[in-house]
Amino acid sequence: MRIVLLGPPGAGKGSLAGLIRGMTGIAHISTGDMLREEMKKASPLGKEIRGFVEKGALVPDDVVTRLVEEKVSHDPGLDKGYMLDGFPRTVKQAQDLDAMLTRAKKPLDFALYMRADPDVILTRLTGRRVCKACGALYHLKNKPPKTQDVCDLCGGQVTRRSDDHEDTIRRRMDVYAISTKPIIDYYARQKKLKEVDGNAKTTDVRNHLISLLNDDKSDQDQKPRRD
Ligand code: ADP
Ligand code: ZN
Repeated sequence: MRIVLLGPPGAGKGSLAGLIRGMTGIAHISTGDMLREEMKKASPLGKEIRGFVEKGALVPDDVVTRLVEEKVSHDPGLDKGYMLDGFPRTVKQAQDLDAMLTRAKKPLDFALYMRADPDVILTRLTGRRVCKACGALYHLKNKPPKTQDVCDLCGGQVTRRSDDHEDTIRRRMDVYAISTKPIIDYYARQKKLKEVDGNAKTTDVRNHLISLLNDDKSDQDQKPRRD
């Protein structure tokens, strides 16, 4: 199964990805994580990327698409499929992804859109904290670590992401509305769009997801008969 996860920053795509991985075993590829890895290296590319990310702007399409193509076409761990999180973020990226996957004869199965309200997003992102060592996610109010600033899972330092400050968050929400939202129509036109509610509780999201994934499976089971 190959899918893309869509939705505004802070909709909960990371948690959604965790649920899907638990249910299907497919790999989670986050371009945000890949870019932050590059930034850590302090290479010329890493520095260039940092300039965009810390402003809340998009990294240029060709840079991100190249990273994704390298990952998707060379990683043997992706045999069972994967979900792309944070990519595509522009219609150009969506078109290039389609072209790349068509060439490889491994098209996307569907796009999963997680809807969320702006006030929910702002609360989530201003309170979001992340473990520097293992990437575990926390929230100051809803899910604080047991010991302040210390990761429950690995003992690593829990910090705020450099782009999770209110002005940058607002900028990212604007960028999303202008550049990323049109992608939803792009996949709707291809009849590949499915939707989950990002405002809902985890248990509800989980149940909805189970029925979505089962529907998709029965679609695929029926295909030979329809042909
Ligand atoms: P969030 O979903 O919380 O906004 P991500 O971790 O997905 O955060 O992305 C963080 C930042 O990385 C984005 O604000 C952007 O600067 C950059 N980025 C991630 N994915 C892409 C992409 N596909 N195209 C351009 N920039 C990207
Ligand atoms: Zn940790």
